[in-house]
Amino acid sequence: MNFCSQCGEKVRFAVPEGDDRSRYLCDACGTIHYQNPRIVAGTLPISGSKVLLCKRAIAPRKGYWTLPAGYMENAETTQQAAMRETWEEAFAEVNLGELYTLIDLPHINQVYMIFLADLLGGFSAGPESLEVALFEEHEIPWDALAFPTIERTLQHYYADRKNVADRKNVADQKSAAERDNAAAPVGTDYPLHSSTIMPEDRERYFGSA
Ligand SMILES: [Zn+2]
Repeated sequence: MNFCSQCGEKVRFAVPEGDDRSRYLCDACGTIHYQNPRIVAGTLPISGSKVLLCKRAIAPRKGYWTLPAGYMENAETTQQAAMRETWEEAFAEVNLGELYTLIDLPHINQVYMIFLADLLGGFSAGPESLEVALFEEHEIPWDALAFPTIERTLQHYYADRKNVADRKNVADQKSAAERDNAAAPVGTDYPLHSSTIMPEDRERYFGSA
């Protein structure tokens, strides 16, 4: 930032009185320009055994596959943002489920929030997508995913899905009491996963900075 968005005068980068980090300060009108992380909201759209991915038509990572997700707008909820992005990128309507991955990217000032979602009907490529398609687990283009957040979300999903299937198989073979004991500590079938992506996690995607 070079100039104040309030009054147009030149700003300086310094620690305001009583603060503990540098901000853009305007001496002319007194505005302190706070800059905070941005939220990227999106969905993991599921249709039976398949998940929906979008091939990006825009930079960064044009031509690589992603989940529908994008920057949250002012005056909307994270759920609304996730559903809007799913519509804009894949023309897909979904029933939104629980928040599934919450991923901090502190080095680029972003927070990803991906919700589980049931795909309701058809889909087609929006203006920011070259192609939209459903994938079985063995069809996922792991080497052509756009971002580490997408890879991590899909890894959690397939691990959880396997755990649920394994537990169901165990439960079918046990008495009701044993089954309750086995199920109790596990919690919901698809728990929230929160984690952090560090610069080294992104090197495979973007090279070292
Ligand atoms: Zn100003």
